[in-house]
Amino acid sequence: MGAKIIDGKVIAKRIRGEIAEEVRELKKEKGITPKLCVVLAGDDPASQVYVRGKERACAEVGIESDVRRLPPTVKQQELIGLVRNLNKDKSIHGLLVQLPLPKGIDPKPVLDEISAEKDVDGLHPLNMGKLLKGENPTFVSCTPQGIMELLLSTGVEIKGKEAVVVGRSNIVGKPIALLLLQKHATVTICHSRTQDLGEVIRRADILVASVGSPGIVHGDMVKEGAVVIDVGVNRVGDKLVGDVDFDSAKDRASYITPVPGGVGPMTIAMLLKNTLAAARKA
Ligand code: NAP
Repeated sequence: MGAKIIDGKVIAKRIRGEIAEEVRELKKEKGITPKLCVVLAGDDPASQVYVRGKERACAEVGIESDVRRLPPTVKQQELIGLVRNLNKDKSIHGLLVQLPLPKGIDPKPVLDEISAEKDVDGLHPLNMGKLLKGENPTFVSCTPQGIMELLLSTGVEIKGKEAVVVGRSNIVGKPIALLLLQKHATVTICHSRTQDLGEVIRRADILVASVGSPGIVHGDMVKEGAVVIDVGVNRVGDKLVGDVDFDSAKDRASYITPVPGGVGPMTIAMLLKNTLAAARKA
């Protein structure tokens, strides 16, 4: 039995179409054009590609984008000063700082400076704290939000299921664990010190892998009929692969996301959704 593929590209395209329509309405009714500002410090090649992708996606749905490029020599205080000024700029609705920041800069004080009302990446302590408390945060981080949309598309009930999240990053692992908990899954979070990863993963009815290690989840770890969401993006030679060994996992899973074309397109769609929501609130 082969798994059904969860096509993130198709689902994200539908969502982007809905966003484009809502952006048009907001412009017509309130004269507001949503605007996303991205601070890009340094010359990390992957970040350059991601930011260009964000600019393109914004343009496609009628959201304005403004990329502030800074040299790798930028100082922490300069970055904090820029974020403070962008917080005050009323024409900007969504604000994010692209990670990683250049060597020597601690991302925490920079990210914490972003106003909670513009925090479209959902990393502000207030937004993360509300998520932890089960309250409605202003913004939920884009990748976990996108994963919840992918799960919804399968029609599989989350309530009462065993969910295993591999990885405990602030941007994916922790928030997706909390969202699954909100939907009444029994959630286990694994990380680099987890003993016998395979044994824990084998319990999962819903598995989310966000590690950054190609093929760390092999098919023989996947429970028969599990829903498998692969967040990992790893370059192996000239190919992009996930954290799940797709070929072996697809024979056991009921649903599985491909890499590329699964979670990635959803992340950008949710960023557009958060920017639109920020503009509505402004
Ligand atoms: P991250 O900050 O890179 O951290 C990796 C996590 O994996 C950590 O929690 C680490 O544990 C855990 N880990 C490392 N080795 C492990 C092992 N052998 N067994 C179990 N857990 C292990 O995580 P991230 O930012 O969530 O990124 C993970 C991957 O997802 C990357 O490939 C990234 O490119 C990708 N990603 C994709 C998207 C998308 O939109 N498609 C979005 C975000 C991230 P410790 O905490 O103990 O170190």
